[in-house]
Amino acid sequence: MKQSLVNVLPPATLAAILAFWGLAPAGLVEQPWTLPLVAVTTIVFVQLLELVFERHEGWRINRTELATDIFYTAFGFLVIGYLSDTLVNSPLRELKADWGIGTPWLAELPFLVQVMVVLFTFEFGQYWMHRAMHNWTPLWLTHAPHHHVTQLNAMKGYIGNPIELFLISLGVTALLDVDLNALFASFTVGGAIATYAHANVKADPPIWYGFFFTTIRNHSLHHTALSYEDTRCNYGNSVIFWDRVFGTYKEGESAIVGQDDRKRLSIKEQWLFPLRPWLEKKQAAEG
Ligand SMILES: [Zn+2]
Ligand SMILES: [Zn+2]
Repeated sequence: MKQSLVNVLPPATLAAILAFWGLAPAGLVEQPWTLPLVAVTTIVFVQLLELVFERHEGWRINRTELATDIFYTAFGFLVIGYLSDTLVNSPLRELKADWGIGTPWLAELPFLVQVMVVLFTFEFGQYWMHRAMHNWTPLWLTHAPHHHVTQLNAMKGYIGNPIELFLISLGVTALLDVDLNALFASFTVGGAIATYAHANVKADPPIWYGFFFTTIRNHSLHHTALSYEDTRCNYGNSVIFWDRVFGTYKEGESAIVGQDDRKRLSIKEQWLFPLRPWLEKKQAAEG
């Protein structure tokens, strides 16, 4: 396959997802399995692309990486999804109803506009939460495990300490009244962009795509092994546009990723990571 065709795979995937939700009848959109099926199909597709269009040999998937990635992806969909829906989204929806602060006019806008409003709003919050994580030590301790991954793959966006995964799932989009298919399109389009932005796929999308959306090129730079200081750019999970607006965009890419001594952390180490300063102090005292 020609490289130029591989490069349009990310925008073509977004177009396919948008076309699906734009054309799907309401009965299909409302089925409880439709949203997870679209999300999982996208991930499987990009994971398979890694096998055909590898970007870096050093990032090649293996059994341990795959098993860990599947665990975190399931954890993200099931546990984190449940927690953020129960603790944040449902209360927000109730608040919206009680205070009568709906935005019914949003649902009058064209489908694509609704999708982008939800995506850019959600990503605006993500941007600041992620940037705070790189600027305040207690938050960094929850986010650091995501930066200790030593290779990038389709599902690596789901890897992290559970506290961080919960914090990064938070948003105010439950306050927005949009059509259900537009809401699901924004979830799955955002997910697809973030999946490609972590994937070991040799696809460099067109300039217009990289102007608005995060690419593996720019996100790998965010994961660079150079230094902690060098990771403080390109915070956008799927919308890099906010980095351009707020001055944190940086051009470039990195093939070598991972923090500190680039030692791969186990799931247990990732979950205990925020306690590290305290555990180290305790260890030193016991000397
Ligand atoms: Zn980060
Ligand atoms: Zn990442």
